[in-house]
Amino acid sequence: MFKKIQQEIDALYPEMVEIRRYLHQHPELSFQEYQTAAYIADFYEQLGLPYQTKVGGNGVVATLKGGKPGKTVALRADFDALPIQDVKDVPYKSQVPNVMHACGHDGHTATLLVLAKVLAAHQEEVAGTIIFLHQHAEEYAPGGAKPMIEAGALKDVDVVFGNHLWATTPLGTVQTSKEAFMAGADRFAVTIQGQGGHGGYPHETKDALVIGSQLVTQLQTIVSRKMDPLDTAVVTVGKFTAGNAFNIIADTANLIGTVRYFKQDTQEGIMKEIEQIVKGVCLANGVTYTFNYEKGYPPLINHAEEAALVLRAAEDVDGVAHVENVAPVMGGEDFSYYVLEKPGAFFFTGAQKEGNHYPHHHPHFDFDERAMPIAAKTLFGAYLAYQKKHSV
Ligand code: MN
Repeated sequence: MFKKIQQEIDALYPEMVEIRRYLHQHPELSFQEYQTAAYIADFYEQLGLPYQTKVGGNGVVATLKGGKPGKTVALRADFDALPIQDVKDVPYKSQVPNVMHACGHDGHTATLLVLAKVLAAHQEEVAGTIIFLHQHAEEYAPGGAKPMIEAGALKDVDVVFGNHLWATTPLGTVQTSKEAFMAGADRFAVTIQGQGGHGGYPHETKDALVIGSQLVTQLQTIVSRKMDPLDTAVVTVGKFTAGNAFNIIADTANLIGTVRYFKQDTQEGIMKEIEQIVKGVCLANGVTYTFNYEKGYPPLINHAEEAALVLRAAEDVDGVAHVENVAPVMGGEDFSYYVLEKPGAFFFTGAQKEGNHYPHHHPHFDFDERAMPIAAKTLFGAYLAYQKKHSV
C-alpha cells in the first residue's frame, strides 16, 4: 500500500502546490486564522469526511474512519502566519501587508490536506482511524495545541505524528530525535525604575541605563557560571531600551528576553537565578523593579519508539536520501503538548530552496515545495509503521 499511496501523492503534487500558494498569498496571524480555518473545513466538506471546526479556537479536526480494524493515529499540521512583511519577488507572495507565512505552515497544511484526499479515496483499505489535526496559533504562546487538546482533540488517539518543513536542511533529508528534539521557550521582562535627571549631574540620579547594563552582563553568568556545563540552556536578552536624549540620565530601563531549556529543573533554576540577579542588582543600586517570567511551550521530547518508526518509514520514502537521528535544536514548538499527552514524534523534512537560504521567520523566507510530498509520505509511512507494529 505504501508504494501506491506514494504514487498517488505524487500525482496530486500540482494541487499541493496550488493550495500552498493560495494560502501563502492569504496568510493570517495567530488566533485570527478564520479564513484559513474555513478553507480547511471546506476542503473536508468537499472530500465528504466528517470534521469539527472551532476546536479550542480556530482548530479544525477531521476524521477518516478506515474499513479495517486498527489504532487511532493523529497527524498534525499548523496553519498560522507571522507579523512579517513578505519581500520575496515571486508571483505567490503574500497579498496581506505585514503578514507572511514565514515558517512554512502553509506547506504543512497543503501537505496534510492532500494526504487526506489521497487516503479518503481508499477508506475501505485504511486500517484504524486517522485524525487530521489542523492547528491554529502555533507561533504565539499560549498557542493552539493546548486548547485543542483541552477541547478533546486527542480523545481516543493512540499516537500523534507531526512534520515541520525545515528550510535550512537540504531537500531529501528527514530528521528527528529519539529524545529531546526542540527546546522549552520562556519569556521574561524586567523594568528598572531609577531616577532620571540632568546628564551633567549624575550624583543626583539613579541611572537606569547603567543599572540595566549591569543586569545584561550579570545575566550572562547564569549559563556560564551557575549551570552544569553538561546541561543545555540559553538566556538571551533580546531587547534593552532606556534613555531619551544625549544629555538626560535615564529614568527607567526595560529588558525583555528568552530562556531555552530541556529539563524542568533547569527551567526552575534559571528562573530563580534571573530573579535573584535582578533583585540583587537593583538592591545594590537602591532602585525598584518589576519582574515578570512567563512560561511558554514546554520542551518537545519525542517518544523513542515512535521516533524510531518515523526514521524507519522515511527510509522507504521516494526522494529521501538522508535519514538522521539528530541533536536537539533550541527553537520551540507547541507540538510538545501533544507528546506530553500521548506517545508520538515530531520530525523535520528538509526543504532548502536553491538560491534561497534564508532561515525561518525571515522576510525572504521560502522553501522547496518538493519537500511537501516527502513530508506527506513520511507522515503516512509513520502511520503505516505504527499500525503494523500494533496490529493483533
Ligand atoms: Mn513553525
